[in-house]
Amino acid sequence: QAETLESIKEVIKEKSVELLHLQFVDIEGILKHVTVTVEQLEQVVDGKIMFDGSSIKGFSPINKSDLYLQPDLNTFAVLPWSVEEGYSEARFICSVKTPTGDDFEGDPRNVLKKTVEKAADQGYSISVGPELEFFLFETDELGRPTQQTQDFAGYFEPSPHDNGEKVRLEIYRALKQMGFTIEASHHEVARGQHEINFKYNNALSAADLATTYKWVVKTIAKKFGLHATFMPKPIAGENGSGMHVNISLFDNEKQANAFYDETDSRQLSEKAYQFIAGLIKNVKNFVAVTNPLINSYKRLVPGYEAPCYIAWSASNRSALIRIPATRGAGTRVEIRCPDPSANPYLAFALIASAGLDGVNNKLVTPEEVTDDIFSMTSEELKMREIDHLPSSLEFALNAFEEGDIGKATLGEHVFGEYVELKRKEWDSFRTTVHGWELESYHTKF
Ligand code: GLU
Ligand code: MG
Ligand code: MG
Repeated sequence: QAETLESIKEVIKEKSVELLHLQFVDIEGILKHVTVTVEQLEQVVDGKIMFDGSSIKGFSPINKSDLYLQPDLNTFAVLPWSVEEGYSEARFICSVKTPTGDDFEGDPRNVLKKTVEKAADQGYSISVGPELEFFLFETDELGRPTQQTQDFAGYFEPSPHDNGEKVRLEIYRALKQMGFTIEASHHEVARGQHEINFKYNNALSAADLATTYKWVVKTIAKKFGLHATFMPKPIAGENGSGMHVNISLFDNEKQANAFYDETDSRQLSEKAYQFIAGLIKNVKNFVAVTNPLINSYKRLVPGYEAPCYIAWSASNRSALIRIPATRGAGTRVEIRCPDPSANPYLAFALIASAGLDGVNNKLVTPEEVTDDIFSMTSEELKMREIDHLPSSLEFALNAFEEGDIGKATLGEHVFGEYVELKRKEWDSFRTTVHGWELESYHTKF
């Protein structure tokens, strides 16, 4: 609900809030914050808190490093784990401003804000419901993560096999207290893997929620002496962690879900089909952001419920784009390639503008693929013109630089910084001699 300064002051008093964390994310979506005392609330709300942008990845050069934090009042939340008798802490998520009071173009949240405004100009609100999976690992005596998963349970398995129930309960409670509407929680397919689902929201809030979710999951896991990871493929040969993104457009004039049309055979509107077409056209050019790590491409392989082919289907889970069965106000498109290591602000901005590209240019969807794509031969794939996603970060970066969607959506600053950062990451990987190479070649040759 909409917070006002007055309602926030009431909570501060009631919960004895003493410290305020002012949060934002860097170009990789990594959460940052500076902590101030509650006595500075007025300065905080006036956007007077300054920080050094040159120390934040992807932000500003050293000669233009002064940046300001403008809190979004709606993101105010007391941190449930900080609450003691007569003491607690709260946070705001902030947008980053330049000294002249403009939105700083290097701030990922501002990038998404811009995309949302652009959609609004065209008459649409964007709703996003991300589903983030994660793993719980044991830690050693120094608190460092080990390779040992916290349990060996599988999909939907309850206790005594599921060791994560108590952890998920604590995470659920914390998220709920921070304003999340939690819908479901379960053990996922892989050992040690879990998922907690929260209700969709407008795109900007959804990215705030995804960011908060990752922080809360890691924080609560640590309280249990565990390490939570959103790394997409922590264990070879097991399912990886996805961040499926459910997305829909709301027609502001008609006050209705723009993807629903009861007269269509699939009850999908023309705009829904065009949006899907936009995703299919642009996906290769944005996976470098939705799947940002070298490790991301180890998840996008056949056989683990993660997509690797560019196709859509109303039901087929091997497809990149699926249309969940819900219709009416809940009609939406699910894109299944993103993983939870993505910066949600940049990922949602790119997915939304790719879909809108389809709507604006009235693109036509290719045929639906209802068969299991993983069992198709390469001839069959070729015949049906089913293309595949980039198979490495390098290929994804090439496509990111070749396409228009990246620069147009992220802006020069973020686009340039992102490419530079990720090229360096790829180069570092490429020039490292890995354990696998030594194992395979050292004695044999
Ligand atoms: N873990 C799977 C992935 O990598 C998704 C499983 C599911 O459908 O929830 O995307
Ligand atoms: Mg799942
Ligand atoms: Mg899903």
